[in-house]
Amino acid sequence: MTTRLAGLPVALVLMLLLASAALIGCGGARSGGEKTGEAVLGADDPAAREVCYANQLIARNEVVAFYMNNPEARPPMQVSVLIQQGALKKAPVCPAGGDFKSFNSQDLGFICSIHGEAPAD
Ligand SMILES: [Zn+2]
Repeated sequence: MTTRLAGLPVALVLMLLLASAALIGCGGARSGGEKTGEAVLGADDPAAREVCYANQLIARNEVVAFYMNNPEARPPMQVSVLIQQGALKKAPVCPAGGDFKSFNSQDLGFICSIHGEAPAD
């Protein structure tokens, strides 16, 4: 009898704990991905940085190939101009929702607003 009665509040407390944990989790994810709505990983997640850098390097290969084939073309400092030039089909995607506006025309590197530029090698 007493165990049954005692069991109920414990279950309720667990549910409340789970509910509050879910709310905290939701709030964190939302604040990280509000910009684009595409964010699937947190800004401070090391996995997000790895994927971001990998995406940057894939796009960088595309751009490097373009400037090798078009030596007269000058690299711009904005990713949007890069796409206009035809050096790049689309900007790299950051899994944490960072955006790519700036381009390092010196070493042809992309600059994520969250993770910065991927280290060369
Ligand atoms: Zn990033």
